[in-house]
Amino acid sequence: MAIRTIFSMAEDCARGERLGWVEFVRDFAGMARTLLAQYFPTLVPELDEHVVAVFRRAGTQTPQRANTGPPPHRSKTGFAGDPGCAGDPAVRGWFSGLTFTNEREFMMAFRDLVFAYGREQERVPAPAIALEQVRAITQDLSLLERELLWLYIKGYDAQRIAAIMMNAAATAEAVQRIADERLAALVPGPPPQRSKTGFVGDPGGVPEALTASPTPGRENRACWGPRFARVLMELAEQSKTEQCVSLKTFNNLVNGQISWRERELAEEHMSNCFCCIDRFTTFQEMVRLRKDVTALAAPQVEAILRELPFAAAKPRGVLSRLFAGR
Ligand SMILES: [Zn+2]
Repeated sequence: MAIRTIFSMAEDCARGERLGWVEFVRDFAGMARTLLAQYFPTLVPELDEHVVAVFRRAGTQTPQRANTGPPPHRSKTGFAGDPGCAGDPAVRGWFSGLTFTNEREFMMAFRDLVFAYGREQERVPAPAIALEQVRAITQDLSLLERELLWLYIKGYDAQRIAAIMMNAAATAEAVQRIADERLAALVPGPPPQRSKTGFVGDPGGVPEALTASPTPGRENRACWGPRFARVLMELAEQSKTEQCVSLKTFNNLVNGQISWRERELAEEHMSNCFCCIDRFTTFQEMVRLRKDVTALAAPQVEAILRELPFAAAKPRGVLSRLFAGR
């Protein structure tokens, strides 16, 4: 049997072939679930339906190629978007417009798909907060401390942050104390109540019961409020510039496969760029999620696939290709 890779999975999904969708749902449903629960807590009561909707979106969404820079090209490793299939109705939505060179880049694209869905679904009033306010309270912090603080904003606690950043828990705890004080000062309105675990509650947020999630470490989660996190993350994304660090460089940073000079240049840019701090911490978050989230069991995969009629095609065998060629 041929060796299955993330590239063969994506190719099969693009063609609506069942095997690809089985693998995609099996390996990524848990990730979609965790991300939606963490960042879009009002969707939690119907979480299963929303997870199905994310996959439906992946199978039917018209690809957006307008602002993705150079046209997709076929990579040496296999799948990287296929311009030759642009007019082929058998090629499916989101996958056909996708370019990635490794699994981590695929995970980042998937994460963006989940967020695009979540942002459309959860329309809650955005709290008034500006990136400049965060910039002001982090002036004296190092790049690493800024990254840790950004992860507190995203709602993680010290233990989880240390796991995500592959960093000493003591460093994360030290930054938690700083974050705790300084972020409290940013929350508008009456002084927020300090939670046992450190962070402050979100006074206008959703009831605490709704924010419960299966994320490891989340039980002790300090909750500054996912709504604040989402506003700041969107503002950070909008501040993207031409100089922003590529996913390839993020991957080299995580792997330690980068020259001293390259690292210095990347870190110099990142320390003053919230877009890169957001993307880099997200990159690390996804690497961690990939390790922690378990694959879905076969019956659960089947239950989701039943909701996705476009994912039912049998693999195209030699015979069917012969007939199709007539
Ligand atoms: Zn940047």
